[in-house]
Amino acid sequence: MTAADEVLHEERASARRLVADLRAELDGIVTDQEANPPDDEHDVEGSSVAYERARVAALLAHAERRLVDLDAAAERRTSGSGDRCGACGRPIGAERLAALPATQRCVACASAPSVRPLGGG
Ligand SMILES: [Zn+2]
Repeated sequence: MTAADEVLHEERASARRLVADLRAELDGIVTDQEANPPDDEHDVEGSSVAYERARVAALLAHAERRLVDLDAAAERRTSGSGDRCGACGRPIGAERLAALPATQRCVACASAPSVRPLGGG
């Protein structure tokens, strides 16, 4: 297992934990909201719960996207194409992969102004 593989493994584990944590938090907020629906007398409290729910939902969506990116990166590595740049086909480099496990671009393509990095940039 290379250093980049280890980093990727760690990142996936922590991304999975984050997704699980945020899902549990969101579930808690939803359950809470259903048990205590906001009424007119508690309008302020109701809107802050709604805000918190939206905030956690946004964090969860972000964490899930990241996990999908990392899973895709792991799959590419398993299939043997993970260390190749998706734009030019050259090796991305172990050092860059260790720093940005989900990246699909070599440093030259990622920093080229005409190419938008897809993930991890
Ligand atoms: Zn490239």
